[in-house]
Parts: sequence; C-alpha cells; structure tokens
Amino acid sequence: MLRRIVIVGGGSAGWLTAGLIAAEHRAAPAALHITLIESPDVAPIGVGEGTWPSMRDTLRRIGVAESDFFRACDAAFKQGSRFNGWVDGSADDSYFHPFSLPQGYGEVDLPAQWQAQHPQRAFADLVSYQPLLCVQGRAPKQVVTPEYAAVANYGYHLDAGKFGLFLRQHCQEKLGVHYVADHVLSVVSHDNGDIAALRTQQHGDIEAELFIDCTGMQSLLLGQHYGVPLVPQQHVLYNDAALAVQVPYPADDYPIASHTCSTAQSAGWIWDIGLPTRRGVGHVYASRYISDDQAEAELRAYIARTSGQTDIATPRKLRFNPGYREKFWHRNCVAIGLSAGFIEPLEASALAIVEMSAAMVSEELPATRAAMDIVAKRFNEAFTYRWERVIDFLKLHYVLSQRRDTAYWRDNTDPAKVPERLQELLTLWQHRAPSRSDFYRIEEVFPSASYQYILYGMGFRSDFSRAPKPQEAAMADGYFHEAASLARKMLGALPDNRALIHHIKRHGLQKI
Ligand SMILES: Cc1cc2nc3c(=O)[nH]c(=O)nc-3n(C[C@H](O)[C@H](O)[C@H](O)COP(=O)(O)OP(=O)(O)OC[C@H]3O[C@@H](n4cnc5c(N)ncnc54)[C@H](O)[C@@H]3O)c2cc1C
Repeated sequence: MLRRIVIVGGGSAGWLTAGLIAAEHRAAPAALHITLIESPDVAPIGVGEGTWPSMRDTLRRIGVAESDFFRACDAAFKQGSRFNGWVDGSADDSYFHPFSLPQGYGEVDLPAQWQAQHPQRAFADLVSYQPLLCVQGRAPKQVVTPEYAAVANYGYHLDAGKFGLFLRQHCQEKLGVHYVADHVLSVVSHDNGDIAALRTQQHGDIEAELFIDCTGMQSLLLGQHYGVPLVPQQHVLYNDAALAVQVPYPADDYPIASHTCSTAQSAGWIWDIGLPTRRGVGHVYASRYISDDQAEAELRAYIARTSGQTDIATPRKLRFNPGYREKFWHRNCVAIGLSAGFIEPLEASALAIVEMSAAMVSEELPATRAAMDIVAKRFNEAFTYRWERVIDFLKLHYVLSQRRDTAYWRDNTDPAKVPERLQELLTLWQHRAPSRSDFYRIEEVFPSASYQYILYGMGFRSDFSRAPKPQEAAMADGYFHEAASLARKMLGALPDNRALIHHIKRHGLQKI
C-alpha cells in the first residue's frame, strides 16, 4: 500500500508537486505522509519566471489565495508573448501570441477568411482583442473580478525564489507536508531494484514507497541512480546557455508589461519579464554560434536600448543540455521538473509540464506496487508525447524565419533539422489551418490556436483555394468585428496593469 511519498528537491517543481498531491489526498482516511527533502547546499535554479494560464488552476487546487500569491511572489499578470525580430529582423517585425483564443475559434475557418479579407492585418491583432490590451498596458481583469477568474485569459510572471519559499510555507503550514532540510547522499535499494530509502547527511535513512525526483538538472535519482539517459535535442533546438539579470525600473510607477517580450538576437533571443519591483531579463543562446562575451554584449545593448541603463549587475551564467529523459517513471521513482528534462525557456513550457506531471501523479496515484508499473507506463507514454509536442512547437518559432543574417538563423531553417511530425504538419498546413484534430489528446501542452498564432505570426500563408468556404465570410467578419469591439470595450473597462497589481497587494481580490 502506498502510504509514504518522498520528494527530493525544493525548487518550483518539488513544491508544486508536494502541494498538488498533498492538497488532493490529505482528506483520505489513511492520509498520505509526504516528506520533501531539500539540500541546504544546493540552491534551486532561481529562474523560471513566466507561466501559462494553467498555473491559475494549479494554485487554486493547491489552496493558495491569489492575492497572497501576488503579495508574496512579486507576481504580475502575463497575457501572452510578443515576438520581436523573429520573422525578418526588420524594425517593425513583431507579432503576438495571446493566451485568449481567437473570437469564433472552431466556429469558422478564421485563417482562411483573414487571408481572403484582411491579408494586410496581423493575424492575432485581427482575431483577438488581447494584443491591444497588452500594447495599452491593461490588466486582464477588474478590481471586482474574483480571484483566479479572468476577463482576458492570463498566467503570471513571478519571482522564482520567492515562489518556492511561498509554496514551502503553504505546504508546511496548510497541507501538512513534512520538510527536511538535508542533503541526500545515496540511495538504499530493495533487492528488486526499487528504492527503499534515501540516505541523508543528518537524518539517516528516509523510507517511502514512492520517490519523486525534483533535484533539478542533476537528476539524482532517475538520471544518476537509475542511469535513465537524456534524449538529446540540440540537433533540433540549438540553445544551450543563458545569461540572466535583474533590471530595476527607472521609476516606481513605471508601466509593467503584461506580456513576455521575446526579442530575437544573432544566435538566440532575449526574454524580458516585468514584475512589480523589477524586470527579469535574460539572453538564451547557442554557445556553438556565439561566445559568452558576445552574448553578454547583446544583452547589455538590449537593456541599454530598452531602459537606458548601462550599469547593470554581472549576469548569471547558466548552461543546459536540451533534452528529455528516455522515460520519466522507472520502478518506484518518477522525475518531475528539470530532472525530467529541459529544452529552453521559449513559451515557458517547463512549469506547464511540471504542473501536468504533478497532476497526473496525484490523479493516478497507484494504490499498490502492481498498479505502479501500469501507471508508470501510462505516465511515460503521455509525457514522451508531450515533450515531443513541445519540441515541435518550439521549433515552429524558428523554422519559418526569413532571417538569413547569421549561421544560427540559416541553420534553424534547415528542413533536415525539423522533426518529422512537424514537417508533416507543415505540409498539411500548406493547404489548411492548424486545427484541433492535429492535437487530439485530451490535455495538450499547447492548444491548436497557439500553433495558428505562431504559424501566421511568422508569416506563413496557407493556400485555401481548394476549399474557399465563401459562405463563412460574413460569419468570420462578424467575429473580426467582435474582437475589435471587445478590445474597445475592455480598454474602457480594464485598469492599468500596475494599478491593479498595486490594488491587489493593498486590498486583495474577492475570494471565490
Ligand atoms: C535560463 C532558464 C530560464 C527558464 N525560464 C523558464 C520560464 O520562463 N518558464 C518556465 O516554465 N520554466 C523556465 N525555466 C525552467 C524552470 O526554471 C524550471 O522548470 C523550474 O524552476 C523547476 O526547477 P526544478 O525545481 O526542477 O529544479 P531546481 O530549481 O534546480 O531545484 C532543485 C532542488 O533539488 C535540490 N537538491 C539537489 N540535489 C540534492 C540532494 N543531493 N539532496 C537534497 N536535495 C537536493 C536542491 O536543493 C533544489 O531545491 C527556465 C530554465 C532556465 C535554465
């Protein structure tokens, strides 16, 4: 019988996993005993500040009050991403990937009617009210909108360090998670190869029936102990390094962007995330194409251009090996977070996969050891599929670029480096738009609408002449007008982004 779970690692992955499982199983008659062990000698990675809207549901399930989260984690709203310089690198090269679905999505073939009626307009700007809200610096909800509810779909920007501490306090105080600050030295095994216990420096052996490896990139249990290899992805997605720095605002009332800005560089891209008290800015790049010094010079130039500041702190250097584990659940050990894999920060998929992994472990928590092998098989199949879809989706951002200014961009468009499934989809999309039937799993990491936003944002055009559907023209036009009219209404009704965050911190939001 599964009664004890040990989670190793107190980064975002460890605490999100502990929170989700504890919140959903604490009312059970034979309550689970959950222990989280975190090494005082190994700091969490401290980056990972952009999330998907799924984080709202995750925090709600964990039982966190959204207002408390805003106060404790220096959190802000994220309504999507703006991609600058990805298509051709020209001065006005910019498009949005908003979190809200296009108006009328699934009702009519919006891309076909966009190309027929308004080919000169940016796709996202025509079908969604949200890009304008971002440009105008509006919050995605009102003062009276209850916690976790949205007027326009949103996720968060947050301070990763504060997020871990906030979840730790909540999990310990409200959910009964037992916290052990200690370094895991080795694994004690059963004869059959299962993990029996973890040997710690000061607390002896800590036993459990299920062990969750949230030890970050070192993957202590799954990677090091069990030797489950990483399936490398650098031949598809080249980035393997990052420089991260915090940039102060020039004034306390400076606007907070409610979208992530992703600005293409000569061999990578720069993220720019607005929190209430600072910006988090980082350059992700491929070390094969650019030196650390050149990457830092591009980062400094970007910060000087966007804030006028030239005296920023020395950026933190991070290295990663893009890939995901051959399997994620082996015997009585499952890896969640960086220990399971990491590709790159584009589109903030990592925390979304953490949330999905923790939710599946919690929902399918095996009652017996025999059931565990079945759940493990299902888990491995589900997450291999999801990592592959993440890779396809991220590669989509690069492969359509018309930039040829550096070897990085030229190589990124090499068809030989495009995964076969994405190649097949791109062939199909030459004559039709991405649709829900292309992504048929119940829970996809990225919805088909996101593929439309990126595909057409990157300048791709489908040839819809085989099935022109003129009968849909009026209906589509209605949705285009609806998006424009909603944008006007929301601009009138939604507060300034910083003003709402300030209000939440002082007065809180209405509880649901
Ligand atoms: C440059 C960069 C940018 C990113 N940006 C984003 C983003 O915008 N959005 C997003 O979703 N994701 C992003 N990510 C990914 C995100 O940072 C991670 O998915 C997230 O922080 C989870 O990390 P983790 O908890 O798995 O690992 P970590 O934060 O590294 O935590 C590892 C934990 O394991 C513990 N540990 C290690 N060894 C031992 C031991 N022997 N004994 C006991 N404990 C041990 C450590 O003490 C630590 O608590 C980014 C990643 C990088 C590299």
